[in-house]
Parts: sequence; C-alpha cells; structure tokens
Amino acid sequence: MSVKTYPVLKPAKQRALIDNATYQKWYKQSVADPEAFWGEHGKRIDWFTPYTKVKNTSFEGKVSIKWFEDGVTNVSYNCIDRHLEKRADQVAIIWEGDNPYDDKKITYRELHEHVCRLANVLKANGVKKGDRVTIYMPMIPEAAYAMLACSRIGAVHSIVFGGFSPDALAGRIVDCESTFVITSDEGLRGGKPIPLKANTDQAIEIAKRGGVEVKSVVVVRRTGGKIAWFAERDIWYHQAVAEVKADCPPAKMKAEDPLFILYTSGSTGKPKGVLHTTGGYLVYASMTHQYVFDYHDGDIYWCTADVGWVTGHSYIVYGPLANGATTLMFEGVPTYPDAGRLWDVVDKHKVNIFYTAPTAIRALMGQGDAFVTRSSRKSLRTLGSVGEPINPEAWEWYYHIVGEDRCPVVDTWWQTETGGILITPLPGATALKPGSATRPFFGVQPQLVDAEGKLLEGAADGNLCIVDSWPGQMRTVYGDHERFIQTYFATYKGKYFTGDGCRRDEDGYYWITGRVDDVLNVSGHRMGTAEVESALVSHDSVSEAAVVGYPHDIKGQGIYSYVTLMVGQTGSDELRKELIAHVRKEIGAIASPDKIQFAPGLPKTRSGKIMRRILRKIAEDDFGSLGDTSTLADPAVVDDLIANRQNRK
Ligand code: ATP
Ligand code: MG
Repeated sequence: MSVKTYPVLKPAKQRALIDNATYQKWYKQSVADPEAFWGEHGKRIDWFTPYTKVKNTSFEGKVSIKWFEDGVTNVSYNCIDRHLEKRADQVAIIWEGDNPYDDKKITYRELHEHVCRLANVLKANGVKKGDRVTIYMPMIPEAAYAMLACSRIGAVHSIVFGGFSPDALAGRIVDCESTFVITSDEGLRGGKPIPLKANTDQAIEIAKRGGVEVKSVVVVRRTGGKIAWFAERDIWYHQAVAEVKADCPPAKMKAEDPLFILYTSGSTGKPKGVLHTTGGYLVYASMTHQYVFDYHDGDIYWCTADVGWVTGHSYIVYGPLANGATTLMFEGVPTYPDAGRLWDVVDKHKVNIFYTAPTAIRALMGQGDAFVTRSSRKSLRTLGSVGEPINPEAWEWYYHIVGEDRCPVVDTWWQTETGGILITPLPGATALKPGSATRPFFGVQPQLVDAEGKLLEGAADGNLCIVDSWPGQMRTVYGDHERFIQTYFATYKGKYFTGDGCRRDEDGYYWITGRVDDVLNVSGHRMGTAEVESALVSHDSVSEAAVVGYPHDIKGQGIYSYVTLMVGQTGSDELRKELIAHVRKEIGAIASPDKIQFAPGLPKTRSGKIMRRILRKIAEDDFGSLGDTSTLADPAVVDDLIANRQNRK
C-alpha cells in the first residue's frame, strides 16, 4: 500500500508547544538521563514534601517500579485546590447529557465543594486510606467527584464500566475485596435507561457468595426511576452530602501509595486488575495531556471515552484537571439522536481538542458525510484517536472530512497498563502518516524483538517491548505480583512486553499491526491483522473489517475476513470477488482473503474493540469454548455470525 505523509501543519492562532527540534532535543535528554529529565518534569505537580529520589525501577527478578518515592502529594489537591487561586470561577467540567437539551457547567470552586462533601461522606461511613471503593456510574459529574473524593482521602477506586453486567461487577468487587460501592439509580444512554442500582443489588448478592460483603452503597439520583432500597446499607447521595462539611483536607499521600485499580478491557482474555499509584501516574497523565493534545490554557477539551476505561481516567479526569483544563463529559452515544451528535456537541461547546476511538470513527464514516458537514467544527484544532489501530481510510476521513485538513490527528498508542500515552505524534512536531502512531513520547524506549527475543534494528516487524520504565507505568496486578511478572516481564527478560505486534519503518515510525496473539501465518508469512483489515476498509463499500486465521490444508492458515458494509450496500459474490482483487492489489496475493463473511456487526468489547479470539473460534467452527465473553458488548452478534459463517462443512 502506498504510504502518504502529511507535513506538520502550521498551528492556527497559537504556537504549538513543541516543534520538531524541541521534540528531538527533549527526547534525547529523556532517555540519556531519565533522572534529570523526570526530576525536572516531576515538578509540574505540587508536592507537600518534595521528592529527592526520582527513579528506582527494575524490570528484572521481582520487578519493582518506584518513582518520586519519598515525595508526598495528593491527586485531588493537584486537580482542584491548586487551581483555586487563579481559576476558581473557570469551568472545570462541562457536562453534556444524553438528551441534547440537558447540560451543565461545574466551576473549579464548585468542584472543590462537591468533592470535599463526598469525601466527608466516605469518611463518615468508615472508608479509610487504602480501602477499595467500587464506582459503577453513568457518565455524570458525580463519577468524577467520586474518583476525586477517593483520591482526596487516599481510598483506592476501582471503576467498573456502567455497561457491565452484575456478574462482571461482582467479580471485580470480589477480586479487590471492596466493601463500598458508589452508583446511581439508573444510567441513560441513547434514550434508554440502564438499571445500575438493580445491577448493583444483584452483584452484591453474588459477591456475598464469593466471600465479600458490601457494607455501604451511595446512590446518586440520576433518572428518578424506581429502585429497591435497603435502608441498612443504601445511602442517598443528595441527602448525605447535605449533612457533611463543605471542606475536607486532602490526605498526605506518598508517591507510591495506590491511586486506583482498573481492570483491562478483556480483548484477549480474563481482565487483569491493573494497579496505578499516585505521583508518577499524575505527572505522566498531565504531561502527556498537555503535549500530545497541544493543550493551551482556556482550551475546551473533549475525550469521548467512558470513565470506566483508562482513557477516561487519564484523559477525562486526572490529566486535564491536573492541568486546570475545561474537560467535557458526555453521557450519551455518538448516534443519538442521530449520527451527527458528536459534531453538534463540538459546535455547541466550541470544542478545541477532540479525542475518540477508531470504532466510533468507522461507524460514523459508514453513515455518510452529511452528518458531519452540517456542522461548522471551526473551533477544532487537534483530533485524537485511541484504542485500536486506526485504518488509514478512517484516518483520512477523520483528517479531511471532520478536521477539514486543518487539525493534526494524533494516533495515540497506549494501554491500561501504561497509564498514559507512549507512542504518538505531537502536533507541531511530527509529520503524520495515516495509520501510524509515529514516535515515542519522552522517556519511552520501544524495542522490537522477534519470537526468540532477538533485538531487531532499523526497519523491522516484530513484538513491541519497552525497555525502561516511565512514571505512568502500572506497578503490579492487584493482589498478584507474580501474575504481573509472568504476564509482562517473563516473555523477554528485562523488558516490558506489550502483547502488541509492531512494524518500524525506515523513518523510525511505529505501526501497531495488532495483537501478537492474532498474528496470521499464511504459507510461512507472518502478517498483522491491521494491514489486511485496512486494505479491506479502503474499499468504498466497506466500513469495518476483522480478519483472523483458520486452519488451511495447504497454507497452514487461511485468511477469514468478516466485513461490515457501508449503510446502503449489500453483500454479494460479485462484491466478494471485488474485495479479494482489491486486497491483492493493495498488499499482494499472499494477503488475499480465502473466505469473506458479510457481517452486520462484529463482536466487540464494551469499549468498542474487536474481539478477534471469538472470530477465530467461529472461523475454526469451534463454538464450544468461546472463552471469557463477559466483556462482550452484544452477545447476539455472535449468534448471527455463527448462523451465517462461511465454512460449514
Ligand atoms: P486485555 O488486555 O484485557 O486483552 P485490552 O488490551 O483491549 O484488553 P486496553 O488496555 O484497554 O485493554 O487496550 C490496550 C490495547 O489497545 C493495546 O495493547 C493495543 O492493542 C490497542 N491500542 C490502543 N491504542 C492503540 C492505537 N493507537 N493503535 C493501535 N492499537 C492500539
Ligand atoms: Mg491488553
């Protein structure tokens, strides 16, 4: 496939924070002397006691990661209190409800009061430093208050995405032995209520059988829907916050005190309880937020993720608020009331920086351009993408149609485990190549190795590892340090293994090719899934595609493609032939799909990522063991795929 390059855009009104020369200079410093580099940038947050030690990390043996270890600080203080002097009346959170007529604005002063009151409620109900608090909430400001209230008193939050089932919620409550839950009566998405309190009630019963008894549940009234009430356990948020003081001093936290536990999306298997700590995490989240999005004071910043995912933690709440930004929280979905909603919201709130996922971009691309072009989008300056490889076709659409060639697209590669963005362009510094996450952020040292762990130099295709620590890195798998070592540091000794495949091109740009577990091996040729999928998506009729390998007598593995068509297109044998010819032309005969199944929907995690391991089972005609499907967004999709599979004998 021919690769285009887009030169660095001249920043519109204001100068970009980092140009290419500065990037090169800082990057060199950051890897040559991490102590000095992070020692300096660690000061971007306020410390009650400044650190004297910067970095104390080892990827060998027992694996130990400590940053700023003798520093004392508080995350909620950094996200709120320190801004009060200058920005008390600035809006901290813009909330856009599911219903387009529902919105509100919360200033930093108001945020302070809300967070202090909830922190006092937690304390009054016995929550102490180090206790785990489960947050199971819709996208309402109280979700951010809950996170910040926990961090204010040193409690460790574990957010469970509001779309998860009672079983999934219970599993996470039990795993981290959490006896306190914050939820709401119902959530609201796309006009439909979601029974969060009822799910919580059920989850608590399941957790009890699992040996963990939840003692208190704080309930925020969102819809006013009917719910069951257990007086000895349940607490109305609005009543409780009215009864406590409006001020709560921030707890003094050591840099390495736990901040939160978050379970990974579950794309590859059972989710892992990723533990992040206080100081290094906040330094890294705030620094990446500023430079990756080229955030300037006064910008309106919008990340469409849910706080249930790490993107919501680092780039809706902690990074932006630590930087004193105005962050937009969106309760709804991109297609309600119609597929133009995101762009309507951009215009309504004059959003400058917009950050979303390829799944949303591809879905909206499939709906046609008119939903986009009816809006102005003049306020936009930076566009971001995260979660999966973005196919070049979707990237181009985002850049040309949404951004009107004015806004750099930052394709940010990172993981729940990494706490913040690791590989990404910087607006103003990095020439862009559609589909490439481009270059490492400061302090990040990627390496590619082959299956045996041999280091690959120059332009190469291999397994992506990171060789030294960065402040935002996870510290352990909660309660299971051995699993942490085994999952991330045992495959390639002394390196953090990401689980992702990656290609580095002749310019030193990184291209994530998909999960290593998903790599195709056709007649001895190894291929990432992303490349073949992108070739399919580049056909005019295709909006989304997923490819997997299946046993093939001659080739070892054949390529099975699941293809979702653009709205208004229908699948036919003729189109199959056309798609095969198209992939041959784009990549070559070796990548030609052996089977193509037209699929109205693909199995995705609740965060919108394609679960290829399920598609592989279907392609292999093996439905007995689909594995952990608890993080699947819509199980009905799987039945449809099985019913219409292509290789029935
Ligand atoms: P699990 O680890 O439970 O299987 P998951 O890996 O989907 O779930 P996350 O931490 O949410 O959980 O996702 C991180 C993964 O998402 C990365 O390892 C990578 O595969 C993919 N990813 C994220 N951003 C990008 C990007 N910009 N380009 C390519 N892939 C990306
Ligand atoms: Mg993962």
